Amino acid sequence: MAEIINGKEIAENILNNIKKEVENFDIKPALAVIIVGCNPASKVYVKNKIKKSEFLGFNSILKELPENTSKEELLTVIKKLNDDENVNGILLQLPLPKGLDEKDFLDEISPIKDVDGFTTYNSGKLFKGEKPYAVACTPKGIIKLLEAKNINLEGKLAVVVGRSNIVGKPISALLLQKNATVIQAHSKTKNLSEILNMADIIVSATGKEEFIKGEMIKKGAVIIDVGITRNKNGKLTGDVDFESVFNKASYITPVPGGVGPMTISCLMENTLELYKLQKGME
Ligand code: NDP
Repeated sequence: MAEIINGKEIAENILNNIKKEVENFDIKPALAVIIVGCNPASKVYVKNKIKKSEFLGFNSILKELPENTSKEELLTVIKKLNDDENVNGILLQLPLPKGLDEKDFLDEISPIKDVDGFTTYNSGKLFKGEKPYAVACTPKGIIKLLEAKNINLEGKLAVVVGRSNIVGKPISALLLQKNATVIQAHSKTKNLSEILNMADIIVSATGKEEFIKGEMIKKGAVIIDVGITRNKNGKLTGDVDFESVFNKASYITPVPGGVGPMTISCLMENTLELYKLQKGME
């Protein structure tokens, strides 16, 4: 039976440490969140980010823009936040409404305020094995979960399922930095079951409900489930069939309560780190 990695608890510890540190600051870190349109899931995510940043004593700035915002208008909002020395972190909530292409905006965020680590500057630094200003929050959170359990990655075979720019690719880069041997799988990968069966560590980020089954994994594998889908009964589920995998894995992250809470804690940690960089404290 696997040990369940309690992401909620690990994430709360990170938040409490940030809160304590921020209490000593006269000027508080400030996080600006831009949301365009009224995607219901995005609204919930943004609300949670603002709530967490207020809990920590950060200044939070919410820019809610209408669905029909033009490219020029959004660029102006980003520019103003870049120029505002009271703003330390800028987050552009994705996805953007139809007609706006995220590629036109992400690189407009100043890299030193890029709390999500999605700019070409910060992701490029990550891929070169250099230190970015900020590392993408979900992959950063996954590494923290593995570290919290003292899981040694050196020489281990890690299979990452999914190759998005926000999860799949950056977690592969981080695992590589930790000297794991990394296989990046995706929807065109052949014989995925055979590949997964060799893996010491599996990070799955596909959004395919419970598609990784117990018979696909090696005994003792570490399973990190990033996927979040709502099944037909309205229950949140991951990429992993928890029941069948639980009996075979050594560690497993639950959904909810695994990777999700780490993502938001790392967002807050990135805000604090960028604040310190901007203030010359690091
Ligand atoms: P994307 O849709 O951008 O990427 C999904 C990836 O999965 C693609 O690379 C795709 O391959 C691959 N894929 C799809 N089907 C299969 C398959 N059958 N076998 C192998 N690979 C497959 O998703 P994201 O990376 O943005 O998110 C993935 C999941 O993680 C979602 O459920 C999302 O909600 C969740 N998520 C959770 C977060 C958290 O904090 N817990 C944060 C971010 C995301 P291809 O490239 O070939 O199409």
